[in-house]
Amino acid sequence: MQKEGLAVHKKLFIPGPVEVRPDVLAKMATPMIGHRSRDASALQHSISDKLQQLFYTDSAILLSTSSGSGLMEGAVRSCTLKRAAVFSIGAFGKRWFEMALANGVPADLFEVEWGKPTEPEMVDTVLASGKYDLVTITHNETSTGVMNPVEAIAPVMAKYPEVVYCLDAVSSMGGTKIEVDKLGVDICITSTQKALGLPPGLAICSFSPKAAARAKEVPHRGYYLDLLALYEYILTKDYQYPSTPSLSHMFALDYQLDRIMAEGFENRFARHLEMAECVRAWAARNFALFADPQYLSNTLTAVSNNRGIDVGELNKKLGARGYQISNGYGKMKDKTFRIAHMADCTLEEVQDLLAAIDEVLA
Ligand SMILES: *Cc1c(COP(=O)(O)O)cnc(C)c1O
Repeated sequence: MQKEGLAVHKKLFIPGPVEVRPDVLAKMATPMIGHRSRDASALQHSISDKLQQLFYTDSAILLSTSSGSGLMEGAVRSCTLKRAAVFSIGAFGKRWFEMALANGVPADLFEVEWGKPTEPEMVDTVLASGKYDLVTITHNETSTGVMNPVEAIAPVMAKYPEVVYCLDAVSSMGGTKIEVDKLGVDICITSTQKALGLPPGLAICSFSPKAAARAKEVPHRGYYLDLLALYEYILTKDYQYPSTPSLSHMFALDYQLDRIMAEGFENRFARHLEMAECVRAWAARNFALFADPQYLSNTLTAVSNNRGIDVGELNKKLGARGYQISNGYGKMKDKTFRIAHMADCTLEEVQDLLAAIDEVLA
């Protein structure tokens, strides 16, 4: 039987992988260079300079040929000496806790009800115990559509300089402003297949001197995902990597960062907000928003399925029209559905998608 889904490309409105522009995709096919060549160093320098601007940081930029989860696991393992405080507001927050346990890293999980944010007061209360030397926070929880109030959490983190601050910005970096240094974030992590608009396969993080100093004290950091090893290699081997990186992704990333800079960061963030506002208004008119309205994500919207529609059926019919959205994540399947509005997607494309949904539901 012929699989119809493979024949027709569906435009992706799922929170990763996202639609990748053809010119960006084409850069993945750049002929190879040696990963120990001067050209490889130059490529990495170029990527790093641009990413420092996008992350608003002076910290080193590390790339890992893994998805975002790789650097999340590497961060919690490489930089926890005493105990990690994992703040979770959904599935991806909890993943960090599972990673800590799987690596034998002592950790405690602090959860809130799905749809709610991590409140600064909660972080303060937990850190005041003095038990923790690493914190993980999810910037943008893709399972619930909540964007955490990191600006309000920053002054709390500043009270605890001994704590390494890890931020999961996998589904938001490049789609909304995250001023890493101003927020006091030591390790800010993202992956290529979300708001950056590239194929999956590369993870990116900033790595502060404080994070490096901590990692030096941690005896068993693993091997492939030892963030200190990546950092020291970058510093001493002219921006190269201990093992062979995905050069194809690096070519595409370097090019895509030029595109992002040509659009202008502020313009890009404003475009994301505009798309978010459009989807939120549509969701409020037709269904309801799942997340606390004060903490809505700028890169994806989780819609409460308060009409009890068949989400699978909706997606099938959208598929025939050349679109794909996401069902709810994990336990929220069929109770919510999610529309991503990130990367290089335009307001017009979002409006076309919403019109297609209206047509299917009519
Ligand atoms: C997608 C996602 C991850 C996992 O990233 P991978 O690149 O798939 O490993 C982690 N956190 C959040 C918030 C995400 O959206």
